[in-house]
Formats: sequence, C-alpha cells, structure tokens
Amino acid sequence: MCIDCQSFLQGLIGKGLLIETGIDGLYARSGDFEDAVTRFDALVTSFGGADGAEIIRFPPGMNKALFEKAGYMKSFPQLAGTVHSFEGNDREHIGLLDKQSRGEDWTALQRATDIVLTPAACYPLYPIVARRGALPAGGKLFDIQSYCFRHEPSKESTRMQMFRMREYVRIGSPDEVMQFRATWLERAEKLMSKLGVPFQIDVANDPFFGRAGKILASSQRDQKLKFELLVPIEDATNPTACLSFNYHQDHFGTLWDIKQHSGDVAHTACVGFGLERVVLALFKHHGLDTASWPASVRDALWG
Ligand code: AMP
Ligand code: ZN
Repeated sequence: MCIDCQSFLQGLIGKGLLIETGIDGLYARSGDFEDAVTRFDALVTSFGGADGAEIIRFPPGMNKALFEKAGYMKSFPQLAGTVHSFEGNDREHIGLLDKQSRGEDWTALQRATDIVLTPAACYPLYPIVARRGALPAGGKLFDIQSYCFRHEPSKESTRMQMFRMREYVRIGSPDEVMQFRATWLERAEKLMSKLGVPFQIDVANDPFFGRAGKILASSQRDQKLKFELLVPIEDATNPTACLSFNYHQDHFGTLWDIKQHSGDVAHTACVGFGLERVVLALFKHHGLDTASWPASVRDALWG
C-alpha cells in the first residue's frame, strides 16, 4: 500500500486498519490497530504506573447534571453530544416510524435522557473526588480512561468524533500539581522518543466557543496553562496534538468544592494521551504494517 499515493485516511481504510461507518470521524478498528493501542497504553503505564495512582475506567457517558455544573456548554457547546431516547406511547411510536419511513426527522420525538457523552476523560472524575471529602495529606493521583465524544466531523484521520483518552490527573496543592505536570512534560519526551516519531512541545489553547472564547483562549496561552505534544501526521506544516498537559489552577477545585487536607481549595492538573492519535502517528511514520516497524519501536511496544 502506497501511503503517499492517496490520503493517509484512505491508506488506513484500504489496509483495513480503520473501517468506515459512513460517518466522518467514526471508525471501527482492526486487531492490528487495537494491538498498537493496547501496547501504547501499557507503555504509558510503564512510565506512570509506579506513582501509586488510583485507577478508574469510565463508561463513555456521564451524568448530565454534573456536565451542566461543569460548565461545558458555556465553553464548548459546538462539541457536545447528548443522549436521547423514546419515551412515548403506542400512538407516538407509530408517528415516529411514519416520520422515519418518509425520511423526515424523527429524533424530535425523543427526549433527552440524564446521560451526555463524556467530552474529556477527567470531567466525570472531579465530582467523584469532591463527594469523598477533603483530600488526604499529599493530595491524590488518578489513572483514568474514557471514550470521549466531540462533534467535530472531519476527513482527517486524526480528528475523530469518538476516541479514547487516557489521563493521569493530579489533585492537591499548587506545588504538587505543578510538579506533576513538569514531571510528565519530561517523561513525555522520553516516552515519545522511544516511538521514533518527530515531535515538538508547544503552548496551546482549547477551542473555546465564540467571541468570549477568544479571550479565554488567549489568557490560557498567556498563562501557559496548556501544553501539547505535537506530531506531524496529516499535515507536515500543522502538526497534531497527541498529548496534552493541562493546569486548571483552582478552577475545578472551586467549582466542585474539592479541598486539600489543609482545608485550602485544591488545584488540579492532567496529562492526556490521545490513544488513537498516537497510534496514527506510528502508522504515519513507520508504515501501515506493524511487523515492519523499526526494531527499537517494536521493542518499546512489544518487547
Ligand atoms: P484535549 O482535551 O483537547 O487536550 O484532548 C486531549 C487529547 O485527546 C489530545 O491531546 C488528543 O491526543 C486527543 N484528542 C482530542 N481531540 C481528538 C479528536 N477529535 N480525535 C482524536 N483524538 C483527539
Ligand atoms: Zn483532563
């Protein structure tokens, strides 16, 4: 398969690594793709697994009331996805099927459930931590993973609508969480060097919505609250964020009333690994056949 002869996405689909569903950004994945995801996930654990994190794995949906309180619709309404379901009677059911058979919009006959799709792995974590009361001395560290949804349909293989995010999340004093982020910025360079892909780390911002969002984004950059580790994948001149390193200051601590052992409000930081994106970076730079990847890369993942 010649990946230079056609778009990267078409190459991945042609090789069967990604399987089309008819929706941009929504793909099934082959055994080889998933094997690489599993091995990368394990490589992350080999760097962070000895830190004593509490492991939590989330379902792809979260409590709508908590999502509302988190303020997601204020910042990223364009990305959110909600779960709706039919709650009507027999007559309304016939009406729904009629609309469907005429090719009309039948979804308005559904109602919003209490579940929304999780937009980032750490969103459901903070209310869980808050519910437990003040943090122990030294704060807490979590190892989390979730499927995430973001409504950003795209022909770029790296911009999926449903993807997995592995994170480490540190909750504690400002010093503790800043130290955590600095440690992971260093570790990430070592980790990604093992994978033999070109990368750079740069200041970044989240895609806050609207005019007010522009101000939030530039303040986030000015304060260096977000860094990304970028790898050229789809576009050599516009590399793709594969890892992100976020310092939320006391934003979530105040919002959810998470207290340090001292009683002061907790600060939080997280490092996020886009599992599909890292694997796409590997396929881009080492080819579509994992058996032909360089020995050092195979050793780092499968050794
Ligand atoms: P963010 O919360 O935007 O910093 O995202 C955390 C990580 O998730 C990023 O560094 C990416 O690796 C990954 N990610 C974000 N958006 C997408 C997407 N649309 N498709 C695949 N991976 C994504
Ligand atoms: Zn996070």
